[in-house]
Amino acid sequence: MRATLMYMLLLLPLLMAGQRNRCDVDQRFDLTKSNPVYQSFLSRIEHGTLPGNIEPRSESYFPVVIHVVMREPLQPVSIAQAIQQLDVLNADFAARGNNIGKLRDEFRPLVGDAQMKFCLATVDPQGQPTSGITHTTTTVQDIALQTGEGGRIAIHWDELGGKTGWDPTRYINIWIGEYGGILGSASFPGMANYPEEIGLVIDPKYFGSIGAAGNSGFYSGGHTLTHEMGHFFGLKHIWGQGTGEDCNDSDEIEDTPNAAGPYYDCPQGVQESCGTSDMYQNFMDFTDDRCLAAFTHDQVMMMQTTAAVFYPDLDVEGTCTVYTDTFDRWYDQLVWSYDQASGTYVIYNTDGWMGKIEVQVYSVDGRLVLEDVWEDQLSYLLDLSHGAAGVYVVRLVSGEEEFVRKIVSGE
Ligand SMILES: [Zn+2]
Repeated sequence: MRATLMYMLLLLPLLMAGQRNRCDVDQRFDLTKSNPVYQSFLSRIEHGTLPGNIEPRSESYFPVVIHVVMREPLQPVSIAQAIQQLDVLNADFAARGNNIGKLRDEFRPLVGDAQMKFCLATVDPQGQPTSGITHTTTTVQDIALQTGEGGRIAIHWDELGGKTGWDPTRYINIWIGEYGGILGSASFPGMANYPEEIGLVIDPKYFGSIGAAGNSGFYSGGHTLTHEMGHFFGLKHIWGQGTGEDCNDSDEIEDTPNAAGPYYDCPQGVQESCGTSDMYQNFMDFTDDRCLAAFTHDQVMMMQTTAAVFYPDLDVEGTCTVYTDTFDRWYDQLVWSYDQASGTYVIYNTDGWMGKIEVQVYSVDGRLVLEDVWEDQLSYLLDLSHGAAGVYVVRLVSGEEEFVRKIVSGE
């Protein structure tokens, strides 16, 4: 009995650390020493010797392909879940994420809009139409942690039970697979051991907020992908390297306050280290999803520069569709589905973004129960979990056009 208790006490910090293992990047890469390409890139930024043609453009578009690599009978990632996750990512990169209103006042002047948008690829490497999602069934447990010959990480390779990625110069590869308690990781620019390993890895439980990610507590906000995409575009953790407390170590970003180490949970009020008030609501910190709110101007500039230098062929004309067609054509492409895990009705369109749409929901007796605006998002989550189960009438209005559809809450 006593031995068991001692064992439990010894294990407790490990268990807690395990719960908080937000990111694997510092374990995978030594960002200080073994990365000459990235170090030379940083020094060229510092000395202003980068070519002048990488001035940030008005808006960049990036096609992503999502490789779902799962064991049976784990719940696969649905198109609705992928679309909803991309909406979170796009909102975060546009400085309009769900927590932006909670950002502490002192950091508001620092917020940067990255002008970077992400969509599912519509054409595969062979030129064939694709949903932008591939599905692979594997027998390998925690495949994102397993390695084979030459240190190759199994999830990135067909022959190791994973899925070989698509040409990384043309697609952002995102692998979804079991990660043994870690939320995610990403290859740092110029640092992947093999071109096939360039991209991001996210555990399905932390990919978006619905479906397989519907019950992930503190990490169910979909901001893990935002954090990892920050790494993919060259951002370090806001305090620098590792998880030790050190004020000499920095993220090499000018406008982020110097922090000694990571924050966890979601602190309140002023939190200081290294003589400054720390921005624990920055996407590159380790706080919970309910806390993560913003990138800064200089972080955004770093990501745009990285995109231009390391991934110049990702953003080509026509990779993502911004919907310019009429509302009725867009409405025809809508998919209506009920998500059991989150208790929400998910309406989504894989075809492209539409402008502003008014959403009104009525109960069967004609009472208006919800009024909202659906804007710049491929998906809309209709939460009817607080109302009575039964039939509702959804009215979508854009300009002069309107459509009405009956749905059954809970189905
Ligand atoms: Zn990280």
